[in-house]
Amino acid sequence: MPAPAAAPALPPTAPVSDETRLAYVLRHFGLAYAGVPGHLIGYAGNQLPVTVAPGSADFFTQNQPYPPAPYWREWRGQRVPFFFDAGAQPLLTLTPGRAEISADVVSAAFYLLSGWQEFFSDARDRHGRFPYAASVQARYGFVALPVVNYYFDVLKTAVEHATGQPLRPRPWAPGAPFAAFISHDVDNLHGGWKAPAKAALRAGRPLAFARQLWRHWTRPDAWDNLEAVATATAQHGARSTFFVLPQHRPGADGTPNADYRLTPRLWQRLGNLAKQGHEMALHASIGTADNFARFDAERQIVLDAEWCGNRFHYLRWESRLTPSILNQAGDSYDSTLGFAEHFGFRNSYCHPFFPFDFQHGQAHCFLEIPLNVMDTTLHHPSYLQLGPAEILPALTPMLAEVEKFGGVASVLWHNQNFDPANVANGPRQFHEIMGWLRGRGAAFLTGAEIWARFPAA
Ligand SMILES: [Zn+2]
Repeated sequence: MPAPAAAPALPPTAPVSDETRLAYVLRHFGLAYAGVPGHLIGYAGNQLPVTVAPGSADFFTQNQPYPPAPYWREWRGQRVPFFFDAGAQPLLTLTPGRAEISADVVSAAFYLLSGWQEFFSDARDRHGRFPYAASVQARYGFVALPVVNYYFDVLKTAVEHATGQPLRPRPWAPGAPFAAFISHDVDNLHGGWKAPAKAALRAGRPLAFARQLWRHWTRPDAWDNLEAVATATAQHGARSTFFVLPQHRPGADGTPNADYRLTPRLWQRLGNLAKQGHEMALHASIGTADNFARFDAERQIVLDAEWCGNRFHYLRWESRLTPSILNQAGDSYDSTLGFAEHFGFRNSYCHPFFPFDFQHGQAHCFLEIPLNVMDTTLHHPSYLQLGPAEILPALTPMLAEVEKFGGVASVLWHNQNFDPANVANGPRQFHEIMGWLRGRGAAFLTGAEIWARFPAA
């Protein structure tokens, strides 16, 4: 096993006060539901109609990554972990015009949504990523549960009681209970011939090997398939977002980048796909997630074509540097934040959100559309090893949580996994997931369409 990367030194941070946490969490609560009245929710002692009992003691004044173990409560028929909850009292106390919440759902929502654990933890994997194994989601087994949405549901119940008015989730499209964001990281366009050629060689079948070579030289590669991918997505009434890698040289650590170059011919093909309503975005290469100048150089390449979003290749994300790099690059969206090792919710939230800036004690300006499902995660020697028929059943409870809370189901299927030769996590499994999403009435949106629904602060 290659050695894990070292985390960079902890940058200086701003104090995280009660007010800081309240402002950050209530801004997202107000983005999740339409028409939340202001000046309604505060910590106990503030004489507001909805109060939250403070429960984090001095946790946010120190640098420890992990809080005390959560207390598990039942909410809407689901066992939910509540951090910063002594568990001594009923969760909600309702009196006329007032609601008291006995668990510190503001601190708990802040802890998960801000990514506190990965900012303050030094644990990194060989790609410099915060490992799923080091997360509270893994430790307490709730990666497939959007726990912050449950905390918001408690707040919503309290607000509805105090005001007598129902709160409704912000709609994505008329009649659509939730949204879906379908994307493809374009790492490879030329390697589809290699596996069958190698297999023929290993099996001692020189004729078959020669046939593969001949096909390679005379026909388009099975992975050179962007138009076919777009057609596959369009079959479900959706449009694809392609994250395109502008760098073909490997990273300094030897990790491969694109196996193709952005030739005029490829630019033309991407332009044609964009004209059909598909989206092109940046797949920033190895070495950009911790270096603003390198990230910005790649961003400039695609800015002229009016691409806006980004996802880092290999889901590279250094929690202490990457958010500031994206913030510095300006208003946009990113869709990197998922665990490579497991599907689910890295920030325990199934809506897009503005990541927290620990150095300045406020939200960053860029929108994060979290990544919930990556094809590679589902079937890979280092990750999960689900059988082809196990994939949709494994994902369904998690996708149903997104539907329950009106969130965005974000699915990454690499173009190379539309190769019909892939029967493990290939086109069939993609179509099964798409069929489920369509059957449940998801509004299929591109990243830019999702981003456009979020006003800047
Ligand atoms: Zn990639």
